[in-house]
Amino acid sequence: MSEPFTIAIDGPAAAGKGTISKAVAAHFQCAHLDTGLLYRVVGAQVLQGAEAIEVARSLTAEDLEIDGLRTAAVAQAASKVAVIAEVRAALLDFQRAFARRSGGAVLDGRDIGTVICPQAEVKLFVTASAEVRAKRRYDELIGRGETADLAQVIEDVRARDARDMDRAEAPLKPADDAHILDTSDLAIDQAVAQAIAVIDARR
Ligand code: C5P
Repeated sequence: MSEPFTIAIDGPAAAGKGTISKAVAAHFQCAHLDTGLLYRVVGAQVLQGAEAIEVARSLTAEDLEIDGLRTAAVAQAASKVAVIAEVRAALLDFQRAFARRSGGAVLDGRDIGTVICPQAEVKLFVTASAEVRAKRRYDELIGRGETADLAQVIEDVRARDARDMDRAEAPLKPADDAHILDTSDLAIDQAVAQAIAVIDARR
C-alpha cells in the first residue's frame, strides 16, 4: 500500500483487537497505532498527580514507549480520563495524521471508525462476550506473573465497558458501516484470517 489506506479496528477491552491489529499491520506491512496507549499515558500521569488535559496537550510519540502502561490500574485511569472532551480533542490531530500516512495505517481503539477516521477505507468492530474477554485478560495478567482474581477482572471489564459505552463523548459503538467480528468462539489465528479476508475484499 503506497497511498494512504486506513484500517480502523474498534472494540471493547480484551476482545482481541490489539493482537488482530498487530497481525494485520504485519501482513499488509503498514504502520500500527494502539490508540489506547494515548489514554493510558494520560491516565498514568494523572495517577502521578498530573493534570489530564495538560498531559494530553503535550503528549509526544515517545511517551507511548514508557513502561507500566499495561497495568489494570492504568487501564481504569485511562477510561476515566477518556470521558473528558478536552482530552479527546487534544489527541485527535495526532491520530488523524497517523491514519493518513503513506503506506497505510492500522489504528485500534474505541472511536476510530466513528469519530477519528469516519472515512477509513475499512472498519472492523472486534467484540466477544464479557466473560470470554475477562478470562483472556485474566490469563494475560497471570502469564505476566501478576496476581489476579477472575471475579475482579470480570467486574473491571464490565466497569470499563459501561464507562466506554455510556460516555457522551465518542462512546464505544460500531460504525454503521463496520464489519462486526465476534471472536468469542474463534482462535486468534482464525480471527486474524477473517480480518485479513475482510480487508482484502475492500482493497
Ligand atoms: O484499548 P485500551 O484498553 O488500552 O484502552 C484504555 C482505555 O482508553 C479504554 O478503556 C478507553 O476508555 C480509552 N480509549 C478511548 N478511545 C480509544 C482508545 C482507548 O476512549 N480510541
